[in-house]
This record gives sequence, C-alpha cells and structure tokens, in this order.
Amino acid sequence: MTQNTTKLVFWGVRGSTPTLERDTWRYGGNTACLEVTAPGGARFILDCGTGLRMLGNRLRAMNHRAGEMHSNGGIEAHILVTHYHWDHIQGIPFFQPFFEPQNSFSFCSFQSKYLGRNSLRQVLEAQLAKPYFPVDVSVMEAARTFREVTGGEQWDAQGTVVTAAWLNHPQGCLGYRLETSAGSIVYATDNEPGVAEFDNNLRELSRGADVLIYDAQYSPEQLATNRKGWGHSTWLEGVKVARESKVGNLILFHHDPDSSSRVVDGFLSAARQEFPATWAAMEGMSVTLSSRGVDVALPESRLGQRRRLRLAATIAGQSEDGGAFQEQATVRDISLQGAYIVLNNRPRLQSELRVVIESGNGQKRSSQIALRATVLYCEPGREKNQNGVGVVFIEEPDTGPPPRD
Ligand SMILES: [Zn+2]
Ligand SMILES: [Zn+2]
Repeated sequence: MTQNTTKLVFWGVRGSTPTLERDTWRYGGNTACLEVTAPGGARFILDCGTGLRMLGNRLRAMNHRAGEMHSNGGIEAHILVTHYHWDHIQGIPFFQPFFEPQNSFSFCSFQSKYLGRNSLRQVLEAQLAKPYFPVDVSVMEAARTFREVTGGEQWDAQGTVVTAAWLNHPQGCLGYRLETSAGSIVYATDNEPGVAEFDNNLRELSRGADVLIYDAQYSPEQLATNRKGWGHSTWLEGVKVARESKVGNLILFHHDPDSSSRVVDGFLSAARQEFPATWAAMEGMSVTLSSRGVDVALPESRLGQRRRLRLAATIAGQSEDGGAFQEQATVRDISLQGAYIVLNNRPRLQSELRVVIESGNGQKRSSQIALRATVLYCEPGREKNQNGVGVVFIEEPDTGPPPRD
C-alpha cells in the first residue's frame, strides 16, 4: 500500500465454533481471523480461526499476480495469537502459505502455564500430529519464528508499535494494540468484564484508539445469568469501554454461534443508541484508517444471485445524521435467495428449474428476471393436483454491472 493508510479486513468473526446455518450467513460463520496491512505494507494476522484458510487463498492469489509483474519474494506476516482456544487456532493447518518454502511468518503469543516454553510452537505441531491430521509438520516449509510475549510488553514490528495486555478469560488471553502511522487498532476479544485489574488493562490498552474490536458474544441478560464465568462480554460493556477510553469506533466481534443475523442486528442497534459509531463485525468487512478518518466497507451479500431489473420502489429509512427519510427510487438489481412456487407439475428433487419472473406488472418499462433454481422440496398444494415447490436459486455466469439510465 503506497498511501498512508492502514487497512483492516475481517476474515472470521464468529466465536467458539464455525457456523453454517443459513440464518448466520449475513455476518458470517468462520471463526476469528483478522488481517491488518500497515502503511508500508507490513502485514499482521490477528488470530488463526477458520477464516485463515480464505485469507491464505487470497494472499497466494495476490502474490501470484504480483509475481507475474516483477520478481517477488514470498508472503510475510506477523501472526498475533490471542490465546489457544480452538476458535483462535483451528485454521492453522489449512493456511496454504505455511506449506510453501518462499514464505516466512513470525508468530507471537504467550507462554501458557499448561504448555510451558514454546507454547505456540507446540500448539502448531500438535495440530498436525497423528492422528489429528494426514501430514506432519515437516511439510510446513515456510520459515517460522516464534516469540513469547506477556501483558504490558510493547515492541516495534516494521514501524508498527504493538502492545499486549492481559484480558480476563479462562486460561488467559492477550489483547493487542497496533499503533500505525495512519491510526490505531485495538483487538480485544475473549474478555469477561468485572475484575478491576483486567478492566483497567482493557481501558488503558484502548485509550484514544481509532478502532476497538471487542467481544460482544452475549446479551447483557445472558452475561448476568447463565453465561457468567464463560469469559465473554456484551455490546453494553463494549459501549462502556468505548466511552471511557474515548475510542473512535467500536466493532462488536466474536458473535455467538447460536446468534442468528437478526440477533446480531439487535445487539448492533441497541449499541448504536448508546454509542453511534458502532459496527458489527461481518466476514469480508474492511476498515480503512487514513488522514480522512475511518472508512468502513461491507462485503456484497453472499446470500443470493443478483439480477438486473428496473422496479419502482418507495424507500424509507434513517440517514447518516439520524433523521428519517422516504423517497421514490428505482431498484436496479436485486438479490434473490429462493422462492415458493405453486405448480401443476411435480418436479424431481435436486433437479434444475428455469424460472422467469415478469417484474413490471404490465408497466411500460417492465423487465424479466430469469433464474435457474434447484428444487429443495415438493409438497401437496392447497388446491387439488397442485404442488408447493420450494427452490433455491443457483449461480449463473456474471451478467456484469447494472444498466445505466
Ligand atoms: Zn474465542
Ligand atoms: Zn477463548
């Protein structure tokens, strides 16, 4: 990156275990993994949950393209691991760049009292030990160095000042602050509030940060009752820390595997009432820090196939300054996930249907949405000899950007 910007990308935002349920897709199901690229290009990987696999594929593709233009070295990164719970390490065996000799990585975490010296190295080797994985660690040909740090330590990594602080979590957890020339990011996941020493650590680590990524796994009600002692926090605690430490933006992170996207929506809107500059971490979301401030970009929906069309619509909502608005607009493309269709025929399960929907209702500028779908279920319809058919739309080749006026 040539300009003075720092870019943060979320590759995994889920806590505890990956999720595949459809109602968790909008925020994403991969476990904790973040990528930070500092001005000058130094790369940091924060935690190695299942999101790490996709990051590895992306880095290899980028490196391959760069290599076509000029001779390039391998992939390099500082890998900061907060602690050794599964959801923070389980992506390690699936990160392809570890298996290539031209790449080099410097790992950083703490010495666990359960593992002793070289804790992170032991964790990595154990993950590839028999009978847990088909090949052993000798095939991980990338250069690897391991550094053990502790709470309160501060060091320089290619011009970025990294600070570690102890958080309150079973078997220990480190929070990290990355101070770059374009802004500061604090990654404080897996923390339960209520112990003064750790509460103070967190506030000190977060002081004046541009971005605070914080554990918001539970609702305040859950934390007060059946989830006390599990080592996690809430959006409400995040808001308190954000206010007390005067952070610029709060990002709710480590979503519970049993939280649907609607539940996360609820936490986000409750937090925004108290601290408007709040976001909910979403797989593929990026945050850019520069002299212009903090810019957040969300990924395109992965939920459905996009189709071009032209539909008149009335749109009502809330603008950036908090005021309500309503206006007439044109929908230029639409994403469709599935449909329930009443048919006289009875299509075979898992067979493909061609669905053409007239979207104009007889208006002058009507348009068609043509889709391919696969049949998920077929049940008796309300009328005799009719079938209720559930379908999900499937990919078609990209049809390009939506038409201009
Ligand atoms: Zn976790
Ligand atoms: Zn944990």
